[in-house]
Amino acid sequence: MRWDNLSDHPAAPAVPALFDAETVTTRTFDTPEFRGVTFHEVRARSIVNRVPGASRVPFTWTVNPYRGCTHACVYCFARRTHGYLDLDTGLGFDSQIVVKVNAPELLRRRLAAPGWHGEHIAMGTNVDCYQRAEGRYRLMPGIIGALTEHANPFSVLTKGTLILRDLDLLVRAAGVTEVGVSVSVGFTDPELWRTVEPGTPSPERRLDVVRALTDHGFGIGVLMAPVVPFLGDRPEQLRETVRAIAAAGATSVTPLVLHLRPGAREWFMAWLGRHHPYLVARYERLYAGGSYAPTWYQRRITRQVHELADEFGIGPARRGAARHPAPGPAAGGTGGAGAGGQEPEPAGPTQLTLL
Ligand code: SF4
Repeated sequence: MRWDNLSDHPAAPAVPALFDAETVTTRTFDTPEFRGVTFHEVRARSIVNRVPGASRVPFTWTVNPYRGCTHACVYCFARRTHGYLDLDTGLGFDSQIVVKVNAPELLRRRLAAPGWHGEHIAMGTNVDCYQRAEGRYRLMPGIIGALTEHANPFSVLTKGTLILRDLDLLVRAAGVTEVGVSVSVGFTDPELWRTVEPGTPSPERRLDVVRALTDHGFGIGVLMAPVVPFLGDRPEQLRETVRAIAAAGATSVTPLVLHLRPGAREWFMAWLGRHHPYLVARYERLYAGGSYAPTWYQRRITRQVHELADEFGIGPARRGAARHPAPGPAAGGTGGAGAGGQEPEPAGPTQLTLL
């Protein structure tokens, strides 16, 4: 494994070592939730990353305390960044988790440095900062604490219900600065969830997060990502998903069609071949032009979702009711999702990344 090419962004050039190899401690925990998972604890040299200028994401600074993600979404395009460490981008991404154990202390130092001017910091942009590892390592309370002390605006995008553990901290932060929270729910189909996002909390539990945060005055935008062609895009599926998102109290819904970038594409197509072999040829045709579905397809999905959003009454009109306003796409949008990942659609109507 190598620790000398560790930018979180797929488009970033190689950078000098961000971790000291001698500070890596490898651990496993014999508990059911972490069985089969290896943690590489590192002392990072920096924690606030500047998004490369070529990227068109709507934020400039990110903090990512983890690499790899046990949420194990098959389509996650942060998989590619695991390859920079000579780690496997398939199962290795799901089970070899790099933990930047000094993230809170590094962030505190950075926020206090004379060259820092209080810019917005986006989290959940590469991998999920509320993945299961956070239950053990508890890095986010220190990170939110540092941001609160410095009244530094920030946003979080997550699929993790663990964010509710830090609800009080988020409320406190929202009292002194702008705090955006977005939750990623691409579909509500239980079978699709179990197979394509096997390590994530169920869509229903994620919508419970939307409900709880809304009850505490946050305006929560839902990133409806990814919309999975031919598996999660039937009109009745889109309708049920938008209905459930609206019923949870979300202030907005932003659809994002599946990206299949190198690293994620191979893993996803192998999964597709095992679970839905009859769709392989259709996918090859739909993604023949590269990592993105054609613009006509993206536009069709976006139009359908926006019409449903209107029908179910979610959109900008409800934002005013929130004590802590929802992040717009600029504040809340990421990928890690894509989540993991953070490249926007090149030509589509949506300019968010995917968690
Ligand atoms: S898409 Fe997001 S939640 Fe899923 S594995 Fe990637 S980083 Fe984790």
